[in-house]
Amino acid sequence: MSQLPLSDRALAFAQALVRMNTISDRSNLELIEFARDHLASLGVKSRLTWNAERTKANLFATLGEGKPAGVIVSGHTDTVPWEGQAWTVDPLSAVVQDGPEGLSLFGRGSADMKSFIAIALANAERILAGNAPFAVHFAFSYEEEIGCFGVRELIADMRDAGVRPLACIVGEPTSMVPAIAHKGVWRYRCCVRGKEAHSSLTPHSVNAIEMAARVVGKVRDMAEAFEREEPRYDGFDVPFSTASVGQFHGGIADNVVPRDAEFRYEFRDLPTADARAMQQQVVDYARGLEPGMQRVAPDAGFRFETICEIPSFLGGRDDPVTRLAQRLAGEAGTTLVAFGTEAGLFKNAGIPTVVCGPGSIQQAHQPDEYVTLAQLARCEAFMHGLADSAEIG
Ligand SMILES: [Zn+2]
Repeated sequence: MSQLPLSDRALAFAQALVRMNTISDRSNLELIEFARDHLASLGVKSRLTWNAERTKANLFATLGEGKPAGVIVSGHTDTVPWEGQAWTVDPLSAVVQDGPEGLSLFGRGSADMKSFIAIALANAERILAGNAPFAVHFAFSYEEEIGCFGVRELIADMRDAGVRPLACIVGEPTSMVPAIAHKGVWRYRCCVRGKEAHSSLTPHSVNAIEMAARVVGKVRDMAEAFEREEPRYDGFDVPFSTASVGQFHGGIADNVVPRDAEFRYEFRDLPTADARAMQQQVVDYARGLEPGMQRVAPDAGFRFETICEIPSFLGGRDDPVTRLAQRLAGEAGTTLVAFGTEAGLFKNAGIPTVVCGPGSIQQAHQPDEYVTLAQLARCEAFMHGLADSAEIG
């Protein structure tokens, strides 16, 4: 276990952030204002970008104004809920006690991923006073857990402001091992409109469930084809793209041909695959069923809605940002992760990106989520190293 010290301020900030309830469907402004006020006390201005209702905000701040643009330190401020989970501590308590891996901070968001944000904030002064010849940008987003919605606004605003960062570190929990790839997560809802009838009169009806089931079957066929045919990408638990239907609703009675049905499905595509083409295959298949449906009922058919589109992420072992993260974390290797992050969105915006943060994804979203103080100390050492980095790489 690491013997690195953890500053009192870093731990206090991590506890303060965990105690704020920022489940994705709630406001995150308490956390954003905490960050903004702390940075303001150091003379650092924050750019906030808001959701439509102005109940949630992203924060973007540049530490080292006047230096060339440099490294983004990125984290999401929201957490998943804990309803129905068997916690032995209050999820908002931020209690520090012995855990399975030693002394740990417990609470929702402790690993995923408030501690990373807290350690960045707690070391803002250090970064400002550091020798790095480039600026460090803090980028804290809302609504990551439900589809990476907030960060899209943040990236657009950053571009509008003319900030051109050279690298981005997303501090999702990777146990401080730099991660250079993850799959994408693409979720859709398919709504089927048929035509109802007494179930004795089926030729005069369009059965929405049956039509939906054909498209569900198509999704299943695609999943089997990925498993059979897709070139493998070693390093992932499942080394090919996956597809799955998560919800299906339809029907009102045994003797009524259903007019409506709805199902939701997702693709988790390899960085080498094309999720948009996958979705297009599903849409094309459904469109092929429509002429038959519309012969009975002209307004019958399929409607598709996007729930979320989180692109896959593929960095590079030899990217300067990967080498930077390896050096700062004291890790020679890299890893792949199974979960989606904002990394693909930063990468697609032209910013070389790596995922590296304290704590393990094994604890994220779980009851009694925790992060060890040893991991937090490693993260703090990482921030100190960043503050004094002579170069990105
Ligand atoms: Zn996360």
